[in-house]
Amino acid sequence: MKLLSNFAASSYPIADLHLLRDADTRAAAALLAECPVMQAEAGENVSDPTRPRLTVVLRGTLSVQAEGVTTRLLPGESVGEQSVLDDDADPAILTALERSELLLIDADVAWRLIEESDGVARNLLRLLSFRIRAANVQLRKRQKLGEFYRQLSMNDGLTGLHNRAWLNDMLPRLVGTAHKTGKPLSVIMLDIDHFKRFNDRHGHPQGDQALRAAAQVLASALRPSDCAVRYGGEELMVILPETSGTVAAAVAGRLCERMRQASVLPDAHPLPHITASFGVASLAPAQDEQQLVATADAALYRAKAAGRDRVDVDGSASSTPVLPSAA
Ligand code: GH3
Ligand code: MG
Ligand code: MG
Repeated sequence: MKLLSNFAASSYPIADLHLLRDADTRAAAALLAECPVMQAEAGENVSDPTRPRLTVVLRGTLSVQAEGVTTRLLPGESVGEQSVLDDDADPAILTALERSELLLIDADVAWRLIEESDGVARNLLRLLSFRIRAANVQLRKRQKLGEFYRQLSMNDGLTGLHNRAWLNDMLPRLVGTAHKTGKPLSVIMLDIDHFKRFNDRHGHPQGDQALRAAAQVLASALRPSDCAVRYGGEELMVILPETSGTVAAAVAGRLCERMRQASVLPDAHPLPHITASFGVASLAPAQDEQQLVATADAALYRAKAAGRDRVDVDGSASSTPVLPSAA
């Protein structure tokens, strides 16, 4: 930056400084008289990371970058008020966007302006309150965006069900709660039957559609407290808090039947129906989430081995084929 003059020698109308609006400009002019007016070239960094000060734009435009947000300052506007109040250097990065003239006000002069003029103090309060409000709006936007991305990262894009990351986060908590409260917790693991064959015969996009149909069966059949997860590939999982193994087995039977009845691509040419095999397990005392999943997986494996399209419940003697309903 190049020193042009002091403020007294500049022709800038003092009443145009936002900070001095409705303030006693004569007293302010006396205080500002010796403050330097500098000229900055386009692109020049004019921050001072070493000490607090006010920077007022007299001519030109300044960009202010702070905490990922960039704002523009036009003639009359200032930056650095908070650094003066905090008695700390301003971490914002100030860059001239064109050739600009800047009035630099050291912290001690800024304090005297505040102390000697109610108008300056009032303007400063207004300015800070405006900035706090703007910062709060920004914060709320970021929180919303963060929540949006968090949701996105916890859901499976194809089926809309919760994904494995969600399961890894939630299942240990649900298991902990069940152990603490002594209430039951059951899981149903299911895997679409002969899905490779389905893909081979009808194509991958149709396979995707079948997966969506399977997810829809789960989503529409469960209580709000139950959760459906895409465990991976064509393996899905249902978590049933506060649900005994007997009830979970009945739920699995219902899902098995609905799966068989669900239409894949009902609007285009309908494809063959899909079936799935189900393994049911309930949390045993001292069991952790991995053991619970492994138990459900073993039951699912038995349901596959016994002929597919059926439910196997951990601890019961055999896999139960689910018979088509009378309707
Ligand atoms: P099983 O009855 O023993 O479960 O046989 P399967 O063919 O269903 O099982 P396998 O593990 O041999 O094959 C799973 C198939 O699932 C293979 C894979 O291409 C398909 N698959 C996994 N994820 C997706 C997906 O997102 N979309 C589609 N279209 N297919 C998928
Ligand atoms: Mg399968
Ligand atoms: Mg599989």
